[in-house]
Amino acid sequence: MAIPAKNLKANSALPQLKVIRLDDSDDAMGAVAQPTDELLAALARSSAELESATPQEILQWAVASYAPKFTMATAFGPEGMCIIHMLAQFAPETPVFNLDTGYQFTETLELRERVKARYGIEVEMKRPKQSVAEYEAANGGPVYIRDPNRCCFDRKILVLHEAAVGFDAWASAIRRDQTPDRAVAPIVGWDKKFGLVKVSPLANWTNEQVWSLISKEKIPYNLLHDEGFRSIGCQPCTRRVGLGEDERAGRWSGFAKTECGLHNS
Ligand code: SF4
Repeated sequence: MAIPAKNLKANSALPQLKVIRLDDSDDAMGAVAQPTDELLAALARSSAELESATPQEILQWAVASYAPKFTMATAFGPEGMCIIHMLAQFAPETPVFNLDTGYQFTETLELRERVKARYGIEVEMKRPKQSVAEYEAANGGPVYIRDPNRCCFDRKILVLHEAAVGFDAWASAIRRDQTPDRAVAPIVGWDKKFGLVKVSPLANWTNEQVWSLISKEKIPYNLLHDEGFRSIGCQPCTRRVGLGEDERAGRWSGFAKTECGLHNS
């Protein structure tokens, strides 16, 4: 049974973040906040309590616990659009950003304006230091062709790492039924890669629940979904999927890669 929102309390053990320097092997990421044992225990308790809560209740808990140091990253996927819709109801001031790699579809970028028109929320576009032209010139052409892991690291991971500075917690739009990595995602947990509390309000939702809400509330969504695209990332690394294919089969097709690295350790 879902926990009534009025019964959800803010995390009494607010982050006691101690920033330490990582060793040289992770130097590109710089300093990452480290959690105390007390914080990890508190997050585990909160995650267990929120396991049966609705996404709206989980988000309300996150806002009560961490705002104004609570943020959300969106790739404008259907799940992210549902979270933006929910935040717009009770915490529209929540900072929302997109990792704008320079390789996104035009249809994806247009969603920023549609979100602004519908909710008045201005999604901030966080970009790598190098433009696509500079990056490709420095690397002898598109890196995604031969080393998509490095391209995702340079144009997504490093950008999120910088975007995380000043925040204590972030919302992700992952669902547990999407990939094996995501299947073990807690509702609330410590994201050691970015040094943040990570909240996944849709972890227990299905694709059907997401699209049911989009349909019912007429939430804006990427029009490419009407053209056979299911999971949409950067244009060079996304293809349509056929009937019977996994929803993420169109991502990095031809590579063993299944994640950009934001949601696995
Ligand atoms: Fe590069 Fe493709 Fe990753 Fe986008 S999804 S950052 S183009 S490898």
